[in-house]
Amino acid sequence: MKYDLIIIGMGISGISAAIYAKHSGLNVLLIEKNTPGGLLNKINTINNYPGYSKISGPDLSLELFKSINDLNIPYKIAEVESISIKNDNKIISTNIGEFESKYVIVATGRNNKKLGLSNEEKLLGRGISTCALCDGNLYKDKDIALVGGGNSAIEEAIYLSNIANKIYLIHRRSSFTAEKSLVEELLKKKNIEIFYDSNITEIIEDNNQVKEVVINNDKHLVVDALFKYIGFEPNNSIFKNIDISLENGYIVVDNHYETNVKGIYAVGDCIKKNIYQLITAANDGAVASISIIKKMEKNK
Ligand SMILES: Cc1cc2nc3c(=O)[nH]c(=O)nc-3n(C[C@H](O)[C@H](O)[C@H](O)COP(=O)(O)OP(=O)(O)OC[C@H]3O[C@@H](n4cnc5c(N)ncnc54)[C@H](O)[C@@H]3O)c2cc1C
Repeated sequence: MKYDLIIIGMGISGISAAIYAKHSGLNVLLIEKNTPGGLLNKINTINNYPGYSKISGPDLSLELFKSINDLNIPYKIAEVESISIKNDNKIISTNIGEFESKYVIVATGRNNKKLGLSNEEKLLGRGISTCALCDGNLYKDKDIALVGGGNSAIEEAIYLSNIANKIYLIHRRSSFTAEKSLVEELLKKKNIEIFYDSNITEIIEDNNQVKEVVINNDKHLVVDALFKYIGFEPNNSIFKNIDISLENGYIVVDNHYETNVKGIYAVGDCIKKNIYQLITAANDGAVASISIIKKMEKNK
């Protein structure tokens, strides 16, 4: 069976795209390798998402999954291994077989780079965060550690310094790679203590929550949270057979969310953009689908 549109990834961006496509009568298929809802399943509390003053990530994920079922949108649990192009169509190869479609939306998200510590994954959402905007307010007047030295790390350290009592900024190099003006602003902050040439070698937990970080196997810092800004790895490994345009691993798209390869669109956290939030991911999915719908109508 040939689909109009195959969407790879069932995070909020892929699900939003599927809802718009289905409402317009497209013959759409979603493919997800893991749990529908994507990253949401790993987030304790959701902030900044309209309509929900208080909801957990897994609960919002369930709501999204309900929309898929209510609309009878078909989905497969399978890992996409690659995309290739045959004539004008896209062949999606997965571990359960091949699927064909006219258009593809890639909504595969991104993973955090790891410090390489044994309890790091387990403590995500239990003191470890990668999103100051989302979780910063949970640590009002608390002491927190932040690791990283690029623009995001410095911007977020400055942002968090206005909320937290004290920030321990831990950086593996002897100077920051962030822009000079940001570093100057950072250095003016009275409640930020910087540890250069330092690595976090252990995270000590208490009751499944971050309690201390140890730097260079030696210095113990008592903290309520650890914010990690050591970068992300966008999931782009499905482009083995296609020369897709990437910037630092992120998929480059135009205003309609189309990539440099005609008919292949990308949305959400896997694309190059400024703001990585639920609402922007949902927006991306909606706009990409609408662009495809308009294109199909034009080509009728
Ligand atoms: C700790 C944390 C807290 C956050 N808190 C908030 C918040 O409070 N408010 C807010 O607005 N934003 C928050 N964010 C950001 C927000 O969660 C993301 O921007 C959003 O979830 C991204 O959605 P997505 O659909 O792009 O990607 P994801 O949710 O990552 O979905 C991608 C999906 O693609 C699937 N996939 C990947 N590769 C393949 C493949 N080869 N084959 C098949 N499937 C594949 C994955 O399994 C996954 O399900 C937070 C982020 C983090 C890390």
